[in-house]
Parts: sequence; C-alpha cells; structure tokens
Amino acid sequence: MEKRVLILGGGDGGTILANRLARRLGPDELSIEVIDKEGTHWYQPGFLFSAVGEAEREEISLCRVALYKENVKFTQAEVTKIDLDDRKVSLKDGSERSYDYLVIATGSTLYYDDIPGFKGGADHFWSFGASMRLRKKLMSIKSGRVLVGVGGLTYKCPVAPLEMVFLADELFRRRGVRDSIELVYLSPMGRAYGPHLLNKLVEEEMAKRGIELVTYFTVDEIDGKNRKVMSAEGDSLDYDILILSPPHRGSEVIINSGIGDDEGWVPVDKHFLTVKGYDDAFAIGDATALPIPKTGVVAHFQAATLANNIAADIRGGIKETFDGQSFCLIEMGESRASAQVSNYRYNIPPGLIPNWLFHAMKMAFTKMYWKYILTGLM
Ligand SMILES: Cc1cc2nc3c(=O)[nH]c(=O)nc-3n(C[C@H](O)[C@H](O)[C@H](O)COP(=O)(O)OP(=O)(O)OC[C@H]3O[C@@H](n4cnc5c(N)ncnc54)[C@H](O)[C@@H]3O)c2cc1C
Repeated sequence: MEKRVLILGGGDGGTILANRLARRLGPDELSIEVIDKEGTHWYQPGFLFSAVGEAEREEISLCRVALYKENVKFTQAEVTKIDLDDRKVSLKDGSERSYDYLVIATGSTLYYDDIPGFKGGADHFWSFGASMRLRKKLMSIKSGRVLVGVGGLTYKCPVAPLEMVFLADELFRRRGVRDSIELVYLSPMGRAYGPHLLNKLVEEEMAKRGIELVTYFTVDEIDGKNRKVMSAEGDSLDYDILILSPPHRGSEVIINSGIGDDEGWVPVDKHFLTVKGYDDAFAIGDATALPIPKTGVVAHFQAATLANNIAADIRGGIKETFDGQSFCLIEMGESRASAQVSNYRYNIPPGLIPNWLFHAMKMAFTKMYWKYILTGLM
C-alpha cells in the first residue's frame, strides 16, 4: 500500500526533498504533499545582491507550482498545528492531514520585536521588500556613517553581514562617495567572525579597505528617531544607515504546537534528523535546533540524506547519516570570494584567500539553483 509523506514548508529543504523523493519512488509507492503558506519561492542569497542593485526580482523568484515534479502535490496553506502523537496536521482553512512520514521544513521567522526599535530604526536584507528599501538608501547616501552588523547570534547565513559590508564598500567606491562615508562593522564577539582562520582573513580585508571594526557590541535597543544604536555593554553609536541581521526564531507553528525549544527550534537526532522521541517525524534546514549554520547548503545536504533514508525505509536499502556537512562561498566584492567547508568533526574552516574563481562559482550557483538543485538533480 502506498505510503504518505507530508512536507511542511516548501523552501530549500522541503522542495529539494520532495523532488528527490519523486525521482526515486513512483506514485504507487509514495504520495508526496508539500504545504507552504507562500506561493512564491525566493533564492534568498539573491537578497544580498538586490540590496546593492545587482539582482532583480525575476532572477531570484519563481512561482512555487512550477518547481515540483508532476507526482508532487503542492498546497498553498498555513499550517496551524502539528500533533506528533496523533500523526495529524491542521491547516488554517480547518482541514487536516495525516501522514506516514512527516518532515518539518518550516525554516526560520524574523522576530523584529526582540530588539526594541528595530522596526523603523534599522534596515536589513533578509527579505526582498527590505532589500529593495535598503537599495534606495545605499544608492542615494552621499556622506555619513553606515553601520553593518549582527542583531542577534542566531540568524540564517552567518557570513551575510560580512558580505554586505564588503559589497557596500564596493558600491560606495563605484558611486564615488566612499571617501565621505564612514563604514563600520559591529560584532557582538571579540572579533569580526567566529572561526579564527577565516576571521584573520576578514579582518585583514577590512583593514585594507578602511572598514572600521567595533567588537563587543551586542545590539540592545535602537532609537530610530535620533539615529542611535545602543549596546548591552553600555556603548552607543550614531548612524545614517543601520544594517542589521534581524533576530530569528523558529516558525510560530512550532512554538504553538509545543514541539520546539524556547525559541521554536526543533530538537532532532544529529545524524538521522528524527524529531526527538519520534521515528516517523523529521526536521531539516533552518527549523532544527542543531548547532550548525542555518544555510541552504545544510538544508540541501539534509534533504539528500532524508530522501535516501525514506526511500530505503520503503524499498529496503542502506540508510545514510547526515554528518553536519556545510559549504559556504563568502562574497567579498571586487569580483572576489572566499570559501569555507565544515562538518561535525572538522569545524575549523580554513581562511581561503579570496579569488575570482570562488566569486564565479557563487554567481554560477544562482543559475544552477533553479535548474539542478531545487529539482533534485544535484
Ligand atoms: C540574505 C541571505 C543570504 C543567504 N545566503 C546564503 C548562502 O550564500 N548560502 C546558503 O547556503 N544559504 C544562504 N542563506 C540561507 C538560506 O536561504 C536558508 O538557510 C535556507 O533557505 C533554509 O531552507 P529551509 O527550507 O530550512 O527554510 P526556507 O527556505 O526559509 O523555507 C521555509 C518555508 O516554510 C514556510 N513556512 C513557515 N511556517 C509555515 C507555516 N506555518 N505554514 C506553511 N508554511 C510555512 C515558509 O513560507 C517558507 O517558504 C541566505 C539567506 C539570506 C536571507
């Protein structure tokens, strides 16, 4: 009898998983349904480039229904409750779904209110709308102080604020206004970036390009009216543009269903991705509480492992483990990028000297994303 997999969230993890399963198993073996509240799929790394005028909406978005293999059913609806004991999921329209396998891929949600004054006081590029509002400001500022930093330690794509400071530096040089703009990077740590080999490279690059580094600045409150940002350490800085990563938490449905930790991240087995205490429910991507970067690459590797394991469960076969694999290309502007690789055992990424090849790979990835990654071919 056919089994039923229900995938909550049709972002990177959910879409790659659905299409990989559809390639491996026929409709007589597995029915696949993906539920997402949004009808548009975004290539989120593109928000960084749209903020500096290098990517437009049509290059980084696609209607979700066009993304799935024919034997995947896509439903646009909001999931309001997950009941793991009764194997039941409720949707906002009042309907319910049951399942044999449940995969939670609901990603992360921006919780601006965790920093008083964020809304109205800070800019960001963690959504398309926000990145376009930021673009207007970056394109029109002629002089002043631009602060770029981290608004809370959990956010998707740990290197994104660093990439932004380098791209802003390049943009201001191109616009001929760099000499009259003070560009500052705020870090809550004692250095710009966690892994120390990569940090050395990043700090050298900042010094070379005249980007000031302010350490131990944990953003606590923003006074948008007077353009001032205050830190938990007791310092304050004036700004003309403040670009911060917004605080992130798990999806509201995780919090409301009582299946996550205090911030709504789902605890899972680090190798098999099963939700703790259940063998028919899994979580992948940003939604998990795993202490690894929240990136599309991680969601991709996890989806590949899980597709293999669900297929092995149905047809018989060897199960794989997810070993924390991550790979990240770090854009540094001036047509150069660096890269880092890590997994659970090897988590001190090297500081790879920025070069054009990694930059070219990052640019090529945008094209590969739609054709090969999301479709489950790679
Ligand atoms: C600016 C920026 C730059 C980035 N750069 C990189 C990069 O260079 N490399 C990289 O690997 N990653 C990068 N990322 C991170 C990457 O985009 C995410 O980590 C990735 O999308 C996570 O995949 P996911 O499937 O877990 O979540 P998502 O892709 O965010 O998908 C989650 C989905 O769940 C849906 N959902 C949530 N709650 C509900 C509900 N209650 N009902 C129905 N649907 C729901 C949402 O609508 C969403 O579509 C970047 C992100 C940003 C914002």
